[in-house]
Amino acid sequence: MVKIPVKVAVNGYGTIGKRIATSILRNDDFKLVGVAKYTPDYRALIAARQGIKIYVPREKVEAFKAIGIEPEGYIDYLLEEAELIYDASPAGQGVKNKKLYDKLKKPVVFQGGEDPSIVEVSYSTLCNYSSVQGKRYVRVVSCNTTGLLRIICSLGVENVKRVFATIIRRASDPGEDLKGPINSIKLDLEQIPSHHALDAKTVVRDLNIETVAVAVPSTLMHVHVLEVFLKDKCIDVATLEKSSQGRVVAIHSKLADTTGKLIEIARDLGRFRNDLYENIVFTNTFTCRNNVLTLIQAVHQEAIVIPENIDVAYGIMNLETDVYRVISKVNSLFSIGIIKQIFSGEGSI
Ligand code: NAD
Repeated sequence: MVKIPVKVAVNGYGTIGKRIATSILRNDDFKLVGVAKYTPDYRALIAARQGIKIYVPREKVEAFKAIGIEPEGYIDYLLEEAELIYDASPAGQGVKNKKLYDKLKKPVVFQGGEDPSIVEVSYSTLCNYSSVQGKRYVRVVSCNTTGLLRIICSLGVENVKRVFATIIRRASDPGEDLKGPINSIKLDLEQIPSHHALDAKTVVRDLNIETVAVAVPSTLMHVHVLEVFLKDKCIDVATLEKSSQGRVVAIHSKLADTTGKLIEIARDLGRFRNDLYENIVFTNTFTCRNNVLTLIQAVHQEAIVIPENIDVAYGIMNLETDVYRVISKVNSLFSIGIIKQIFSGEGSI
């Protein structure tokens, strides 16, 4: 049995890494040893001033000192010290980092930008929590895939005959000034299905799913239009919310019909970094007739994978076998449930 708190290192402190790191700081079951930072920038400075220990490449020590950061040590020290490593490096860098991890013989959680072939399990909590126990290399699937799989696995894989999803993807995260498109709509696929369907199948192998995707000039969330052909009977949106264990929440579009308004809800709720951890399904787009379910949902790309990244740590470290206990714990960490509480009174719209 692993001793609590589990010592954690976060390798890469960008959009995802900083969110994992602060979630670890707020959870008594884990202890953040520190974060690996490669660029001496505003993110590093804020983290250092917030008391997060910064580990850097040997050749960058002076560059960090120049902006007023005294590094705690080199990155290899950080990785040595930790019992669990999160790799939150830019997509495709994790496979290169893996050479380092192979020598360390400790569990690593990779992110969705890595090729699934480098891990033993691609992961999404509502689908395959129990499959990560005791595994060495696990990958939390990407933001769009997490958004799709939460719906599919809440419906029950055995009840899903076929899925078709149109993904309208945000062009970049808020800090990524150089990514686009900035004034056009870009195809985000080379063929049909787009890679999102293939990614979903890394978790649910026999899933019959097709996806198409376009990227639009926005930094605020993805939008999915989903059509799910069910084998058995239809369900209603309240049942979907319930079986997602609160990870899917319905809001009527008369109250909020843009991703901008949804992010403002997160701001008004005082959510850390304005994060929306839940899939937001627009209530009035949810229909289920003749075993065909349709819905439109919004998925906050920066935040959606963070609960799954914390859930997975309980599994991979053998801390808890009951997925519902894990979800309940992690949901309360992120105040998942508050949106449901506020918007459940919308019934008369
Ligand atoms: P990012 O570019 O915001 O952050 C990556 C960080 O890693 C940067 O701070 C960079 O300096 C640092 N880094 C550089 N070299 C490194 C190395 N050798 N090892 C470790 N870190 C290094 O990227 P991100 O958006 O946080 O994405 C990280 C991963 O999460 C990717 O696999 C991505 O596909 C996935 N992901 C991203 C999003 C999103 O919306 N941004 C959502 C879900 C999953």
